[in-house]
Formats: sequence, C-alpha cells, structure tokens
Amino acid sequence: MALRIGLLGIGKIARDQHIPALRANRDFELVACASRNATVDGVTNFPDLATMLAGTRLDCISICTPPQAHFDAALTALRAGCHVMLEKPPTATTRQIALLADEARRLDLTLFQTWHSRFAAGVDAARDWLRTRELTSGRIIWKEDVHHWHPGQQWIFDAGGFGVFDPGINALSVLTEILPTDVCVEGALLEFPENQQAPIAANVRMRTPDGVPIVAEFDFRQKGEQSWDIELTTRTGRLKLSNGGATLAVDGTTLTSDAGLAGEYPRLYQRFAKLCAAGHSEVDWRPFQLVADSFLIGERRMVAPHHV
Ligand code: NAP
Repeated sequence: MALRIGLLGIGKIARDQHIPALRANRDFELVACASRNATVDGVTNFPDLATMLAGTRLDCISICTPPQAHFDAALTALRAGCHVMLEKPPTATTRQIALLADEARRLDLTLFQTWHSRFAAGVDAARDWLRTRELTSGRIIWKEDVHHWHPGQQWIFDAGGFGVFDPGINALSVLTEILPTDVCVEGALLEFPENQQAPIAANVRMRTPDGVPIVAEFDFRQKGEQSWDIELTTRTGRLKLSNGGATLAVDGTTLTSDAGLAGEYPRLYQRFAKLCAAGHSEVDWRPFQLVADSFLIGERRMVAPHHV
C-alpha cells in the first residue's frame, strides 16, 4: 500500500521538484500540504504542521522549508509517529541534526536527511572511478546568480540561512560522497554583505589527511554562465563533474549526462520509500560540518550591501 505523505513548506523546491516527483511515484500518495501562504490543488491544505498532523492520517512528512524551521518540524513529525524526509541543509545548527537522528532511532522511525546532489547522474560513476586512483588536487567552482535562483528568499541571508553555502553545501555533499578519503577545512574567507547575516561568497581551503589540497570557490554574484563544477586531478587522469553532478567527463570525454535537478528528486523518493520499508535511516552530516567549520575558522570581510 502507498505511504500517505504530507509536504511541509510549499515554495520553489516543493513545486518544482517534490510535487512532480511524488505524483509520479506509486509508493507514495500525496494527501496533504501545510504552508502558511500557499495551497496545492488536489490535496487537503493546512496552514501549519500541527493542524496537518491533527487533521489527517499520515505515514510520513517531507519537509521543504528553509533550514531555520527544520528542527522543530522534524521533531514534531517524528514524535507524531511519522517517517521524515528532510531537505538540505539539514538544520540550522549541527547539534540539532544529531538530536533528530537520535530521536528517529529511539522511536524506530526513518529519518532521511537528504543531499539531492548526491543523486545526480554522474555521482556514482565518479565515486567508482576515483576509488582506485591517487588524488593530487581538487577544485570546486560553484557560482550562481542568487537573484535568478533564489528570488525574494530573504531567509538565505538571515542568521541560520547559510548564505552562499545553501547551494555550496551541495558541492560539499558530492565531494564527501565521491572522495575515497576524508577531507577537512584548513582556512576560509567569507564575504558578508554589510546589511546581511550570511555570506554572499566564500573561498574555502580544504585538505585530505594525506595533504592533498582542495579549494572551493562559492559565489552568489555570478552573471552570465553559471558554474556548478567539481574538478579532481589524479596521477592517472582528470575528472570533471559539471552541471551540479549531472555530467561526468574524464580527460575531456563525457561519460554520463542527464537533465540535472529534475532527475534527482524521483531517485530521492525511491530511496525514501526503500528506507521506510526497511526501517532504516540515512543521515550524514559531514558536508554540514565542513560548512560549520568554515564559519568557525573563516576570516570575514564586509562587502557591498545586498538586497534580495
Ligand atoms: P522557498 O521558495 O522560500 O520556499 C520555502 C517555503 O517554506 C516558503 O515559501 C514558506 O512557505 C515556508 N516556510 C516555513 N517556514 C519558513 C521560514 N521560517 N522562512 C521562510 N519560509 C518558510 O525556498 P525553497 O527554494 O523552496 O527552499 C526550501 C529548502 O529547499 C531549502 O532548505 C533549500 O536549500 C532547499 N532546496 C532548494 C532548491 C532550489 O533550487 N530552490 C533546490 C534544492 C533544495 P509559507 O510562507 O507558505 O509557509
């Protein structure tokens, strides 16, 4: 029988990806949505999570709000007996996601803390290709126009909104998935608009335990061509994941390519259904730790004001 699912936070990603992916997946029945200012056709709509939980029977909840609202919502949903799927970034603070993982375990429920970019078409093949190779350097270039991709989203620049790390954490989720080794932050430069609480650009210097340097350039001020690229050089070839992980090339030859974000969400919900059936959770906060460590260790520079 299909799992009865409710969606919380009807904004851009819920409409662009979650709703189409759910409606195409027979493992789920989208029965309800909860949002303060939005409704969805063909389901029962509620103004918030509490009224949704009280007003309909649900097996699971998928949370698509900004990260500042994730912890309270996920905890409430778990304590109401629902399996939970959580958009990235996981929570506003690192301790919160650890507590959610503990709570899911205690209640014997599934917590799927998602990293959608790990479901991009080139990621599995990239991990396999790297497994037997010796890495010598890496570079991430993740530069996009915030006005185009996040129109009107003030929460990104509020405290706990991650700023440019909101997309940047996607790159770090792919990096930590495909590298055969660990990686940690050794320095960062964060650029904060003088009127905002989160960075608009960041340069992060990382290193593997064997001393291999990996740098990441994140920027929200990109005009023209947008970049979501990871380049890794090894002693025996060069890998490039572009388009957010959807395209994989080795030494200039394209091996895998698909439509990007659109392919990721159907695979996310397939995984969520499997996790619920098996009674398992999936939580990996390493990308989040790299972001938190960048905030802890990074130098800060004030730059021109930014208006959303
Ligand atoms: P969005 O367009 O701003 O939508 C989020 C919705 O959540 C809002 O419309 C709002 O709906 C609700 N909400 C609940 N609490 C809120 C709060 N404290 N502040 C603001 N809104 C709140 O954002 P989005 O782009 O869909 O992103 C949501 C999450 O998905 C983020 O964690 C983001 O990183 C992730 N994500 C986004 C994309 C993308 O391309 N946009 C891609 C992948 C993942 P109501 O006002 O109706 O309650």
